[in-house]
Amino acid sequence: MMRRLAAGNWKMHGTAESLDEVRALASTFPSPKCDILICPPATLLSRMAETAAGTAIAVGAQDCHTSPTGAHTGDISAEMIADAGGAYVIVGHSERRSDHGESNAEIRAKAMAAKSAGLAAIICVGETLQEREDGRTIEIVRGQLGGSIPDGTTGQNTVVAYEPVWAIGTGKVPTLAEIAEVHDDIRKEMIARFGTAAQEIRLLYGGSVKPSNAHEIFGVPNVDGALVGGASLKADDFGMIVAELERA
Ligand code: PEP
Repeated sequence: MMRRLAAGNWKMHGTAESLDEVRALASTFPSPKCDILICPPATLLSRMAETAAGTAIAVGAQDCHTSPTGAHTGDISAEMIADAGGAYVIVGHSERRSDHGESNAEIRAKAMAAKSAGLAAIICVGETLQEREDGRTIEIVRGQLGGSIPDGTTGQNTVVAYEPVWAIGTGKVPTLAEIAEVHDDIRKEMIARFGTAAQEIRLLYGGSVKPSNAHEIFGVPNVDGALVGGASLKADDFGMIVAELERA
């Protein structure tokens, strides 16, 4: 049976002292009813994996290169993430798509690299405010899904995160009906492409999830967890979100 997932994306935040947040989270949730993941910056990955070893907290990265090794200054590969103790990697986050001009094809190649290294890829999709106002949300998300998600996708190797770009870090959240519409469409797209086994692909909502709105968001059909940015940095806040997911 599918286990829901609470995933924290620390972005470019966190130093050695932040590992205390992981220790606190691990002691609050010794055997949680959902999966818990933290994706710290690459500099903390192996230390966090050591800190989290033997606990219920999984660790992942925020991006990977498409190749296993090579002359790519500043990049890290999926193999290196696995070697550092990571189990997941986020690919196609909107900040990567916009800051680094990543295309759907590149994101698909990254997801394939993750699969080859034995990592689960969290593939992010989502529309801009302009695209939503133009009534193009479903079209944009379908295009990103079709272009970014590789063949051979299963619930074991892939998680899909719907993150409206305009909701990330802004405090703005779509209505529950809007989240439901997109998640329903993503589920249908996944089933059309991968068959009924796609029921097992976890669909996360991301964009200003907080302790105060987690309960209602987790009640939306086809929301199997959350990708959380700002509210994942502190164990107290993220713990409240995890607790809501456990109850959902
Ligand atoms: C994110 O960056 O994936 C995200 C959802 O950020 P926030 O929760 O801060 O909106």
